Amino acid sequence: MSIGDNVRRLLKELPEEVQLLVAAKGRTPAQVMEAVAAGAGIIGENYVQEAEEAFAAVGRKARWHFIGHLQRNKVKKAVSLFDMVETLDSVALAAEIEKKCLPLGKEMPVLIEVNSGRERQKTGVLPEDAAGIIEQISGLPHVKVMGLMTMGPLSGDPEDARPYFRETRQLFTALRQRGLPGTEMRYLSMGMSASYRIALEEGANIVRIGTRIFDCAGQ
Ligand SMILES: *Cc1c(COP(=O)(O)O)cnc(C)c1O
Repeated sequence: MSIGDNVRRLLKELPEEVQLLVAAKGRTPAQVMEAVAAGAGIIGENYVQEAEEAFAAVGRKARWHFIGHLQRNKVKKAVSLFDMVETLDSVALAAEIEKKCLPLGKEMPVLIEVNSGRERQKTGVLPEDAAGIIEQISGLPHVKVMGLMTMGPLSGDPEDARPYFRETRQLFTALRQRGLPGTEMRYLSMGMSASYRIALEEGANIVRIGTRIFDCAGQ
């Protein structure tokens, strides 16, 4: 199966309201281009420099989501390239994004990364801290909170991710009902190659898939 075949098969499988994000870390610009040519609309990048290389080949034929850990000194480049930052996990980072977006007159959509597994070594905000952080960010005119993203603890069995996806969806729904000013709870990004079907069952509307597209395994 080619990269293009894998993308087309996934696009066919996913419900209409769900967006496929192609997780491109470690792939060449040519591989990323192949996914876009097959209809992939969103490329997810973990590293700004790698994104710049792929962007040089693909340009605005796709939308670009940042899904890695964003370092402060990379924010300036990131805000000019990316259409969304899915991994916002601190007010300080939001403030830096605000500062760099201001002169560009650009509003950056962001997702709050939730550390749903409450893992010490992991990035993301604890579920119980999300509302407070969103409230602080909502005062920044060039940063727009548009939903939540989570990884969940990695495990051999994708079923193990289900409770974390479920808790994140419940948080998403609760935040939506609170209707925090300046925020719009529209996107819930969860699920990767092994776990995306479970994430779909738990309400994800963005799934982030790499291995299953580029390493051509599975069915
Ligand atoms: C690599 C990555 C993915 C995709 O993982 P696969 O198992 O290769 O599908 C999704 N989300 C993030 C944040 C990643 O870094």
